[in-house]
Amino acid sequence: MKATLFHQHGGPEVLEYMDFPTPEPKPGEALVRLRAAALNRMDVMVREGWPGLKLEMPHINGADGAGEVVAFGETSEKTKTGGLETTNLQVGDRVVINPNLGCGKCEFCLAGRDNLCVNWHLLGETVRGTYAQYAAVPARQLYKLPNEFDFHQAAAAALVYQTAWHSLIVRGNLQSHEAVLIVGAGGGVNTASVQIAKYIGAQVVMIGSNAQKLEKAKTIGADILIDRSKEPDWSKAVFVATNKRGVDAVVDNVGTTFMQSLRALRKGGRLLTVGNSGGPKFEIDNRYMFAKHLSIIGSTMSTIHDFREVMDLIVAGKLKPVLDTTFPLQDAATAQERLWKNENFGKITLDIP
Ligand SMILES: [Zn+2]
Repeated sequence: MKATLFHQHGGPEVLEYMDFPTPEPKPGEALVRLRAAALNRMDVMVREGWPGLKLEMPHINGADGAGEVVAFGETSEKTKTGGLETTNLQVGDRVVINPNLGCGKCEFCLAGRDNLCVNWHLLGETVRGTYAQYAAVPARQLYKLPNEFDFHQAAAAALVYQTAWHSLIVRGNLQSHEAVLIVGAGGGVNTASVQIAKYIGAQVVMIGSNAQKLEKAKTIGADILIDRSKEPDWSKAVFVATNKRGVDAVVDNVGTTFMQSLRALRKGGRLLTVGNSGGPKFEIDNRYMFAKHLSIIGSTMSTIHDFREVMDLIVAGKLKPVLDTTFPLQDAATAQERLWKNENFGKITLDIP
């Protein structure tokens, strides 16, 4: 098969478009002929590597992918555990992959909480991913798409919508009468968060780096727009916009902005986080935590149940992935550069030949 892969960590130049053996599906797995992949910032972090990350080289980036089932590994009763068994898929079915790979056997997977799995993997992070013509994944990870549903829309949805849904709805318990602040207007998780918050009826306050991104955020439902290039101390602007009450919840996947986010919350508010695009380490003032009764709630990805729930809303058209640009698979390096420089609004996808 054709794949874009890398033999050593480094900049975009380490990515090579070349032939690589097609994976063989193991028992319980399905082989998917991919038609579209979507990018995530994680792809670039994995390409660059970090201390302790050990990969079997060459590595193939990519958590998100959609395509058609072309084969199944030998079925095995041992793979059918805890309600996570293979669905009724057939060769030829159009599918999107859930990249949150639980083992299917540990106490958390058996309780349906597979993003807490003790042997957890993310497709494309620690195992080879979707920047390729084929991927072999456990069949339970596949969601069957309607025949007319676009592969790029599906690939663009898989990681970010489940992540945003689990954080906002399941962990964050966001309610229809509440106001949520979203820090950053361009990224995939944040555009998904705007749509999910609006879907349940909440008010959305959006902090963006420039007027163009905020204008786009408005078109997908953001109610109150704050331009941080004009309001560097945006927590004050949030306070003013909410009649000095503060917001009920903040989606902050930047990290280095936590102090502003904590200031923008009402008493008893929650800060929700699923990432750290601004860097992993920063200081917070603990007095805000106890004096304002605040909570910081972290999560990663979602459960198989959440994934199916949010994909049902995607295929029903209730939530619509925002697509930025599509590149051919062989131009993955250019695509990653666009993402890393935050030039996108919504998801960047790869067209797989
Ligand atoms: Zn597990």
